[in-house]
Amino acid sequence: MSLEKITPDWKETLSDTYPILIAGPCSAESEAQMLKTAEQLDQRTVNVFRAGIWKPRTRPGSFEGVGAKGLKWLAKVKEETGLYTATEIANREHAEKALDYGVDILWIGARTTVNPFAVEEIAEALEGSSKIVLVKNPVSPDLSLWIGALERLHNKGITKLGAIHRGFSSHSKTKYRNSPTWRIPLELKRKFPRLPIICDPSHICGNREDLQFIAQNAFYLNYDGLMVESHIDPDAALSDAQQQITPQRLKEMIDDILLPNRLAGSAGYTEKLAYKRDEIDEVDKRLLELLKERIDIVREIGALKADEGKTISDTHRHQEILDKSKEYAQEYHLDKRYVQTIMETIHGHSVEVQTEIRKKRRNT
Ligand code: PEP
Ligand code: MN
Repeated sequence: MSLEKITPDWKETLSDTYPILIAGPCSAESEAQMLKTAEQLDQRTVNVFRAGIWKPRTRPGSFEGVGAKGLKWLAKVKEETGLYTATEIANREHAEKALDYGVDILWIGARTTVNPFAVEEIAEALEGSSKIVLVKNPVSPDLSLWIGALERLHNKGITKLGAIHRGFSSHSKTKYRNSPTWRIPLELKRKFPRLPIICDPSHICGNREDLQFIAQNAFYLNYDGLMVESHIDPDAALSDAQQQITPQRLKEMIDDILLPNRLAGSAGYTEKLAYKRDEIDEVDKRLLELLKERIDIVREIGALKADEGKTISDTHRHQEILDKSKEYAQEYHLDKRYVQTIMETIHGHSVEVQTEIRKKRRNT
């Protein structure tokens, strides 16, 4: 069965809810903490209560979760509030225990998605269970690993699948704990348009201040919902204290979010959009024609340099192209980084084409 045929039937469990809002503490700490948090969450907007029972920590020595006894607390939350429950599983034993205790939704964490052995063993343990399984993106910005984990589950007949975007580790220090790198989840959406996708702003931000912005952006990008960490006393949380918010704050945040209009657009809007898209298509065609014209000139230059036995790359020229594009960017009010990235790509390809010319000449 192909992943493309995935139906979002897991949403039926949530009565076709939009948006899906999963909230609760990073970690289950005590029965009282769980029940109190669940009671304080706004029952009109939150559909699923989350809590980590087994915590994957980057370094040993941090709080590693309360373990299986937390599953009883999750069941109690469900019994008392009627909320669906969700927890993270990272191996076969976790999967089996979560099934035993009737957790509604299971998620695979970012550190597990990177490991095909672990995902395979979870998929085997869940086979035939009809559970909803959400797969977090892998820590590394690697779309294939993310898709691979979804496929492993799907191959074992688990079709109630969804993806959670929690950001990616990166070398460069950004203001986020995990860089959102939106183009990766958007590519996943393009490839699997029916796969529900949920944003986890808590693990992207690693702070409280940026949550609203990231959460709002997810809805602008047509995500199906959010998973947000919420704790009754965030500063005292045993894990991820700096990014958790109170149920009250969560309610304010959700109330402030603008949800996109998912209904069919008005006739005027649809017509105008179609017209503007035609205009864009025309511009794209002109752009590509210009790129073709440019490449033809590059070939001539490549032949010239080869005739004279000159080097292909010329750092002075490379710099000149970048400097000029910077000036044009300013003149045309275009984003400098955007223009620079495009010019680097164009110039890089030009070097490749000239290298090909040399290779051909040697081979003939
Ligand atoms: C979590 O949701 O608490 C968690 C550990 O997430 P991630 O796998 O995204 O780090
Ligand atoms: Mn966490």
